[in-house]
Parts: sequence; structure tokens; C-alpha cells
Amino acid sequence: MDILHNQLAVVQRQLAFVATDPIDWKFYVQVFSWSVCLFESYLVVRQYPLYSKPAPPQVLSAHFDQEAFQKSQQYGKDKAKFALISGLYKQAVDSLILHFGFYAWSWNVAGNIITKFGYTSEYEITQSIAFVVVLFLISSLPTLPVSLYQTFVLEEKHGFNKTTPLLFFTDLIKGWAIGFAIGTPFLGGFLYVFKWAGDRFVPWLMAFLITFQMTMVFLYPTVIQPLFNKLSPLPEGELKSRIESLAKELQFPLKHLYEIDGSKRSSHSNAYFFGLPWSKHIVIFDTLIKQSNAGEVEAILAHELGHWYYMHPSKMLVVSQFHIFTILALFPAFMHAPLFLRAFDFSKEVAAQPPTILAFLLFQMILTPLEAVVGIGMNAVSRKFEYEADRFACELQDKIKTEDAKDLSDRLGKALIAIHVKNLSTVWVDWLYSAYHHSHPTLTERLKALEEYKSTASKKEL
Ligand SMILES: [Zn+2]
Repeated sequence: MDILHNQLAVVQRQLAFVATDPIDWKFYVQVFSWSVCLFESYLVVRQYPLYSKPAPPQVLSAHFDQEAFQKSQQYGKDKAKFALISGLYKQAVDSLILHFGFYAWSWNVAGNIITKFGYTSEYEITQSIAFVVVLFLISSLPTLPVSLYQTFVLEEKHGFNKTTPLLFFTDLIKGWAIGFAIGTPFLGGFLYVFKWAGDRFVPWLMAFLITFQMTMVFLYPTVIQPLFNKLSPLPEGELKSRIESLAKELQFPLKHLYEIDGSKRSSHSNAYFFGLPWSKHIVIFDTLIKQSNAGEVEAILAHELGHWYYMHPSKMLVVSQFHIFTILALFPAFMHAPLFLRAFDFSKEVAAQPPTILAFLLFQMILTPLEAVVGIGMNAVSRKFEYEADRFACELQDKIKTEDAKDLSDRLGKALIAIHVKNLSTVWVDWLYSAYHHSHPTLTERLKALEEYKSTASKKEL
């Protein structure tokens, strides 16, 4: 532990200027956040002309009829326009909130609220929770019309929206209630670790965050998801027996197999698994089952089991721990720096003893450009995993050598095409836009890779 803390102290000395130099941090945050927003707008501008291409790429031409292709181009065009305008709007709102010192204002409001309940500003954690609630309400109300437009105009126009205004609002309220129920103890615990561990918080906070993540992995599918969707056991039949035998061949510890009513809200389709290492659950969207035959859904699950086989979720968890560690290692320099808070309009009294939540929130804003770069890196890793999982599905017939595993690669290709056609996914993609936004390779890239895996597999046989 001491080695760790010595290393962290070196980082802190490098960043000592944060506490001593009067830097116009607010101005930098404005510049950073506008740069990221304008870069994202530039990406949309690069991508936009591709929605006017008259025909799909060569590999897809046999699978997309002209009507489906035109529909996907139109959907892409509308989504791009929406992304451009809503992105600029959200950035403008954030920028105004920052400019007019709403963070400092919210902190004072939170102070007034807790005073009404008989608490003084001595109760930092209580005030922090009230602050987050106030700030959340201020910043989420202006974006509410944006999500309403997205659901009831944009998605509706292209036939995806299945939600009603009533369902939309009950979802919203439920979401807020759950956020409050989970967020409050989380934030309380998070801030308590700082108080308790002092400047040696890094390893303790890492432990706290991992425990929280693990709890969520367990709570989300068992408690939270059922509040929004109905999971019912997959009925007996070809699909069920195919998946069960596939899981058995691979020694995947399948406990339950569910069908989820994703179609209640949207007709986008999917499948996923979750659970503890020794007991896993697979969930398939009813929309996927409807649009593809049993063999094709099996191929999608072969891909999902590839993620499990190569331990992709655990690897992602390790990568995200490194990410969190870096953030926490840099944070102490910003923790006890009154000048840092003063730059964001906080009063002398508040800044003299910076509340941890404020320092952490403002510190996160400084990281915006770094986070954009990290996002690109994470996407690259995720795309690599997608290729690996596709390859796993293709090579499965070598591994288990049963009749069932034959032509999995063709079935996977067909299922992927069906998902893309049904979801009207974009087929022409600008490389830079894709690197920034996409965690999955494009359909064209995946089909090309599937062909390659198939040809290397058949060479092996010869
Ligand atoms: Zn995948």
C-alpha cells in the first residue's frame, strides 16, 4: 500500500499548481466542452452525405431491397439531424448553467433545504445529496422535450416507437425513483469513504466501487429490469432445445432462459446474458425471436457465448478499473484547492473547505477531453471483442462437431442482416464517425470478416 501512496504522492506534486495558481478553470471547461461538442457536430457533417448514397455496399446489395435501403437512409438522415441539433442544444444548456454559476447556486439551495429539516452545513454528506437532487432537476428538465421529441416524433415516424405517453412518464418517474433509491446510499457511501480514509482513499474507494458494480450486476436483472419489462421463461420448442444443447456442449452454466417483452416499448432487437460465474441467465428479445428463425437466433447466441468464452465482460471490467484508478489518482490535487472552486463562482466560505462532491464534479468537467479519447479507446477494444465473438461462432463447428453447429457462420450472417434491416441501421459509415461512436463494427465489416473466417476454416479442412 505504501508503494502505491508514494507513487500517488509523486503525481500530486506534479499537479501542485492546481492549489496555488489562479487559473480560469471555468473558461477552460467552456472551451473543452464546446470543442468536444463541435467535434461531434463535425462528425455528423462528415457522415451526413453518406445518407444520400443511392445503393447499399456490394456485399449487402443482395440482402437489402431498394425499399428497405431507402428507409434506412431516411432514418439515418433524420437521426443525424436530430443528433446535430439536440447535441448543440444540450451543450448550450450546460454552457449556460456553467456560465451563470448554477452549481454554486444549487449548493446554496441545498443548504437552505437541509436547514429546513434541522441540519446545518456541518452535515456535508446530507447537503451533497440534496445538491445532487437539485442539480439533477435543473439539468434534466430542459432535456425532457428532447427525449419526448425523440420518442414520439423521430422513432414514431419510422415505426419503432411502441411506448405510450403514459408509459413514457411512468418509466421516467420509475427511473427517477430508482435512481434516488440507489443513488442516495451510493453517494452517501462514496463520500463517506473519502471522509473516513482521508488522503489514502484511492484503494478503499476502488474497493467500494467494485463492490457497488458487483451488486448492480446482481440487482439490475433481478430487481430493476423486471420493473420495466416482463421476463418470461422461453417456451418449450426448437429454439429452447437448440440453445440448451449449445450451452451444454460449451459447458456454459445456463440456469434460466428468458424471453423479454422488448416490443412493449420499441421494435429494436437484441439478446444478452448475465449472472454469476456458476449460474448464468440468457435473455432474448421477443422481437428477435419474431424476425429470425430458431437456427439464426441460435447463431446470435453462439456469438453471445463467444463473449462469455473469451471472458469479454471481465476484461472490460478490468479496463474500466484502470480507467477509474487513473481518475482517482489525479483527483487529490483538486480536492483541497479553494482556488479551483472559486473559479466556478463558489463563495469564499464554501471554497475554504471544499466539499468533496463539488471538487469531484468540477474535476470531472476538466476531464471532458480526456474522456472523449478514452471513449474512442474503449470502442476499439469493444469492436475487437465483437470480431472475436463472431469468429467464435464461426469456428464452433470445429469445436463441438455436431450437426447443429453446421453453417453457423451463414446463419449468423443472415441473423445480423435481418437485425440491421429491421432496425434500419446505417449501412454506409464514415470511418472517423464510426471510431468515435460505434462499439460494434459495421454490418459490412462483420460480413466481410465472417467470409474470411469461413475461408480459413475450410482451408484447415483441406
Ligand atoms: Zn457482441
